[in-house]
Amino acid sequence: MFKKILIANRGEIAVRIHRTCREMGIATVAVHSEADATSLHVKLATESVCIGANAAKDSYLNIPRILSAAEVTDAEAIHPGYGFLAENAKFAEITGKLGFTFIGPKPEHIRIMGDKIEAIRTVKQYGIPTIPGSGGALSDVEEALEVAERIGYPVIVKAAAGGGGKGMKVAHSATALRNALHIAMSEAQANFGDNRVYLEKFLETPRHIEVQVLCDSHGNVSILGERDCSLQRRHQKIIEETPSPAVTDAQREKLFAAVANACSQMGYLGAGTFEFLYEKGEFYFIEMNTRLQVEHPVTEMVTGIDIVAEQIRVAAGLPLRYPLLSVTPRGHSIECRINAEDPDKFIPSPGKVTEYFAPGGPGVRVDSMIYPGYTVPPYYDATVGKLIVHGATREEAVARLKRALEEFVVNGEGIKTNIALHRKLVATNAFLKGDYNIHSLEHYLTTGRL
Ligand code: ADP
Repeated sequence: MFKKILIANRGEIAVRIHRTCREMGIATVAVHSEADATSLHVKLATESVCIGANAAKDSYLNIPRILSAAEVTDAEAIHPGYGFLAENAKFAEITGKLGFTFIGPKPEHIRIMGDKIEAIRTVKQYGIPTIPGSGGALSDVEEALEVAERIGYPVIVKAAAGGGGKGMKVAHSATALRNALHIAMSEAQANFGDNRVYLEKFLETPRHIEVQVLCDSHGNVSILGERDCSLQRRHQKIIEETPSPAVTDAQREKLFAAVANACSQMGYLGAGTFEFLYEKGEFYFIEMNTRLQVEHPVTEMVTGIDIVAEQIRVAAGLPLRYPLLSVTPRGHSIECRINAEDPDKFIPSPGKVTEYFAPGGPGVRVDSMIYPGYTVPPYYDATVGKLIVHGATREEAVARLKRALEEFVVNGEGIKTNIALHRKLVATNAFLKGDYNIHSLEHYLTTGRL
């Protein structure tokens, strides 16, 4: 097993990874920007290295500086967390070439899945159902109009290199599609340096269901169940739960078998998530994330499996400790993402935390980097933590979530959070019944009904 791991990330996920490393007796190296010098991940780590200025490109995205930090601290492996360099195939490749172990999938799989067009083409050949669409990059407006005519409006234009909900445009008519194509291509170019876009049927009432996989280098594949991440704003998840209140056991079994088959055929390594839209009893693949997900703790709560520990073990060449094709969940788990943002206007709202109380008690877990006196810097993602609850049933989990949200206090100077929004959402009838889809939250924000 590794003696020292460098965590190439910040915030709550760096803290999360550190915790498992310490439980495994592994020393940790934190890397940080100047603004993060007093961050919790730096305070907790065994050692820390300042890798540059505040802009992510000068620090958390700066490959030479991160690798130099690994070199000078004698780290043997690098865990990339999520975001930043986690899905950068070049980073994974260079890390390996320099003799460090990249705690993640093989570079070739990161590369394939990082290109959504390539990802769809790949999983399709393993029998995974996909959404009717162009099946490849659109060459011009005429082709887009032809495909839309064939599959029917509404359609969605998506960036091949897309991520974080960016570069997606919905069109309900040919005129709208002409505009959408133009805007999506320039947004894709500006955000990802790649203007390739493709087209899919826009599903009007789907749920977002994703499947967590773990694979080792000995051919074992484990399916750790699904997560329902349908409560989203601007295509960004804000509440996730497992098991999904909408999926039946028969559908689950069929889906898991298809995903397990794809993983075996690919020779996938490590943790990964297959994302689907689910409508009228059918699953449609949208993308695969070749990394740890923000919402992985709900899976950990119902399976009892520490996904980060398994990632580290399989990266070290060890076999999975749970080589079961499908792990049976115990109870129900729900996560609320706590963002430093205005709960009404949704603009980032960083600042100094003067008062902080994290809920506790039975079935409650808080993954966060906040401590009283901590100043949330304005340079990065607005996520400052996650509240995760576990209950024997969904009802118990919801009751715990409500109670924990009542207890949660984050006050300070300038900082605002979305805790108030979560309190309102979890009290709606639709949430209590588990009756919602990917458009429900936006609908709630405009009408007051979920
Ligand atoms: P990203 O990588 O930017 O997160 P995804 O492809 O994972 O993009 O899609 C994010 C979200 O966008 C989905 O969870 C869903 O809410 C919405 N979405 C994507 N494709 C479609 C589609 N064909 N129809 C309806 N909604 C979609």
